[in-house]
Amino acid sequence: MPSSDTVHIIGAGLAGLAAAVRLSAQGRRIVVHEATGQPGGRCRSYYDHVTGMVIDNGTHLLLSGNHAAMSYLKAIGAGHLLEGPPSAEFEFIDLPTAQRWTVRFNDGQIPWWIFDKSRRVPQTRVRDYLPLMRLMWTSADKPLSELMRCEGPLYERLLEPLFLAALNIEPLHGSGKLAGRIIRETLALGGQACRPLIAPGGIGDAFVAPALRTLREQGVEMTLQHPLHALVFDGDRVAGLDFGEETVSLGEGDRVILAVPAYAATVMVPGLSAPTAFRGIVNAHFRVDPPARAPRMIGVVNGTTEWIFALPGRVAVTVSDAGDLIDMPRAELAQTIWNEVAKVLGLSDTLPPWQIVRERRATFAATPEENAKRPQPVTRWRNLVLAGDWTDTGLPATIEGAVRSGHRAAELVAGEARSKKAA
Ligand SMILES: Cc1cc2nc3c(=O)[nH]c(=O)nc-3n(C[C@H](O)[C@H](O)[C@H](O)COP(=O)(O)OP(=O)(O)OC[C@H]3O[C@@H](n4cnc5c(N)ncnc54)[C@H](O)[C@@H]3O)c2cc1C
Repeated sequence: MPSSDTVHIIGAGLAGLAAAVRLSAQGRRIVVHEATGQPGGRCRSYYDHVTGMVIDNGTHLLLSGNHAAMSYLKAIGAGHLLEGPPSAEFEFIDLPTAQRWTVRFNDGQIPWWIFDKSRRVPQTRVRDYLPLMRLMWTSADKPLSELMRCEGPLYERLLEPLFLAALNIEPLHGSGKLAGRIIRETLALGGQACRPLIAPGGIGDAFVAPALRTLREQGVEMTLQHPLHALVFDGDRVAGLDFGEETVSLGEGDRVILAVPAYAATVMVPGLSAPTAFRGIVNAHFRVDPPARAPRMIGVVNGTTEWIFALPGRVAVTVSDAGDLIDMPRAELAQTIWNEVAKVLGLSDTLPPWQIVRERRATFAATPEENAKRPQPVTRWRNLVLAGDWTDTGLPATIEGAVRSGHRAAELVAGEARSKKAA
């Protein structure tokens, strides 16, 4: 590709940003077009006037084995902005009984923790863990409930909360193939791949602002509030980008990476197979100083609350596959969640300043049916590549999946340029 050729990236979520960062080092013209006034997409922070705090649309959890996300953070100089314990530990509480337990994975790949009563899930036996081996290599995609026994202490006290968080769907209905992949990329690699990492200073400061700085330094153009209305097709290529008031004509060497959500892509790309069902996530934010001894992160079993994050000057709660909670009156929901938080952290029942963030289409529904609809990045138009957490990454809709899809799209565009040069 001659250096004057342009790569247009549509959508400045993490997939689009990751693609732009990957390509930016290669000295070609890149223009990112974002529909809204703020890059980051589903991974963003903003100032909330009600609580007087900068909050995340959702506290995003990564695992140390998310290698694409780590390499993206490294490329934008932000690796140090994630924090987590030195080894993989997950603390849980059963809300009705207040029983607490901590699962402690050992660092290496041989899972000694399963053989150690003080590290594994209480009331479990070594043989309870064997079905996980089968799940890792399952080939046909079926609901998890058809592939393993979804009951008992191991399931209820570790696997259910883990799969619910990662798949954002009631795990019984979740894709067994995606669940198996999660195990393969985390537990099977040992504790050093499972350290939980969060951005205590906010996801905007960790994942977005440093990327924008990097892209600016590399001369990448970023146009905000510039929604693409339609792709203009001509035979086997995209010939133009229709932004409503203007249409940008594409030259022979120009390329397009479409990194918008599935529901936006299906409107623009004829005949595109993509997930059409989605699941919501609710986050609650409370302006309060957590007790000094509060765990940074604790999983809650048998409550409305699923994960509590104790951060400087605030407490955040995540509820995945939030279903009916999305439409519950906000004040009632805040009080319900706060009552649980107060119980777990030993705080007063008095509701502190709060905010509820409801993301109705947080992720595609990770069922076998929806998973089967995910497309490959290459399309039948030779200059159009797809990216996004909903494309066929083999992973659930996560930061890791979004970044991998962005990298893959960038490599497809760059690889094609390399082979042209060599010819
Ligand atoms: C509340 C919540 C909590 C989450 N928690 C976690 C977590 O703990 N761990 C984890 O790994 N993942 C988590 N995720 C998932 C993660 O945020 C997403 O997988 C990831 O951000 C998706 O990035 P993306 O670039 O694929 O899509 P998006 O972020 O949706 O980006 C698409 C971009 O395209 C733009 N766009 C749309 N239409 C147009 C158009 N016509 N023209 C131009 N631009 C357009 C959008 O405005 C957006 O900026 C969470 C998601 C949510 C919502």
